[in-house]
Amino acid sequence: MSEDDVADGFHVDAPGNVPVWDEGGWRGLASLKGATSADVSVVGLGGSGLSAVHELLDMGASVVGLDVGPVAGGAAGRNGGLLLAGVAAFHHDAAAALGPERATALYRLTEEARESEIASGMGGVRRTGSLRIAADEAELEDCWVQLRRMEADGLAASWYEGPEGAGLLFPDDAVVNPLSRSRELARRAVSRGARLFEHSRVRDLTGGTVATEAGQVSCGAVVVAVDGHLDLLLPELAGSVRTARLQMLATEPTDELALTRPVYRRYGYEYYQRTPAGRIALGGFRDHGGDDEWTKAAEPSAAVQERLERFLRDDLGLKARITHRWAASVGYTRGVLPVAAVVRGGVWVVGGYSGTGNLVGAVAGRAAARRALDEKSRAWSLLGGA
Ligand SMILES: Cc1cc2nc3c(=O)[nH]c(=O)nc-3n(C[C@H](O)[C@H](O)[C@H](O)COP(=O)(O)OP(=O)(O)OC[C@H]3O[C@@H](n4cnc5c(N)ncnc54)[C@H](O)[C@@H]3O)c2cc1C
Repeated sequence: MSEDDVADGFHVDAPGNVPVWDEGGWRGLASLKGATSADVSVVGLGGSGLSAVHELLDMGASVVGLDVGPVAGGAAGRNGGLLLAGVAAFHHDAAAALGPERATALYRLTEEARESEIASGMGGVRRTGSLRIAADEAELEDCWVQLRRMEADGLAASWYEGPEGAGLLFPDDAVVNPLSRSRELARRAVSRGARLFEHSRVRDLTGGTVATEAGQVSCGAVVVAVDGHLDLLLPELAGSVRTARLQMLATEPTDELALTRPVYRRYGYEYYQRTPAGRIALGGFRDHGGDDEWTKAAEPSAAVQERLERFLRDDLGLKARITHRWAASVGYTRGVLPVAAVVRGGVWVVGGYSGTGNLVGAVAGRAAARRALDEKSRAWSLLGGA
């Protein structure tokens, strides 16, 4: 396709809905055919499901993992790559809803998850810190409120003013290539004995059986970690979680913007980082797309892509060519907590991270895995799991 082609009104200079993170080299996994059995079956091989797989392996369980697409073909391999401590809600909002003690305990769990990521080295993870940059005076005031709450709760944050704008600095946060990270998690799981299958859509499940189009798993329990597809697979959760589309673009390598840390701007609607190759990966403006973004479609749309491009050119001042445009589905809940639930007698469900799930997803996946094996999990209780 030439650079001059136009589809749906936006410039198709980056065809294919391919994330900038794809460096190739993934050899793929077989699909499930026929009947098999395992102690636990994990549905969804993004960051949450793969974390569950590793927790199950840590506890000596046999595991079958299934994904309708490739490993990390959903949001886990198509996100902004920010490893932000906490849940999607800022800490002061989480504290207001849950109480400071519980919100702080949850925050600490995500910090532990971040430290494990950094220790693992997967996906080129780097501790850079992260910035919350205010888009206006009202948000600046909100940053002060957040800072006061975090200081009171002993969480690391400081006031920031710099070329990116004003707001807060979280010195310990990190960035990662999220697709490489997930693929590495999958490779390690396979080498530890997990049986993982791609291109295996789960059509139906109970706590003891998982059915795909061409196969079936008999198991003692199931962990479901499909985030943006929760209500499709488990319609009983339709009242708790809703699917939204999030979109990004990335540029060719450029020296036009010196960024040492990722930026999270306008209450987190926009987010961008400079990759090690010097590309700018920018996401956001879901709200600009209006109701159209409450969709299960996972293709880039004109309205949001045009707005992202305008921000790149007018606000960040970049001229660099756009080389990638992509989208993926995520699940949103109404409150500050994600979904942590048990349904259908033995199906342990996590998801609904409201757009920030790289760390809390790992915490939730591991918690669900423990509960699936009838082990205690403080994280599961903190997440509100019944
Ligand atoms: C554009 C974008 C930017 C984001 N930026 C950030 C960020 O910078 N930091 C951050 O923390 N979070 C970010 N997020 C959110 C984050 O990506 C998600 O919260 C996280 O990836 C959720 O992980 P998961 O494993 O639960 O879900 P997913 O990664 O979506 O994985 C679920 C898997 O389930 C599979 N599946 C679905 N239905 C079925 C079925 N019926 N049978 C079998 N398999 C099925 C899917 O194919 C998918 O692979 C972003 C999300 C997007 C889309």
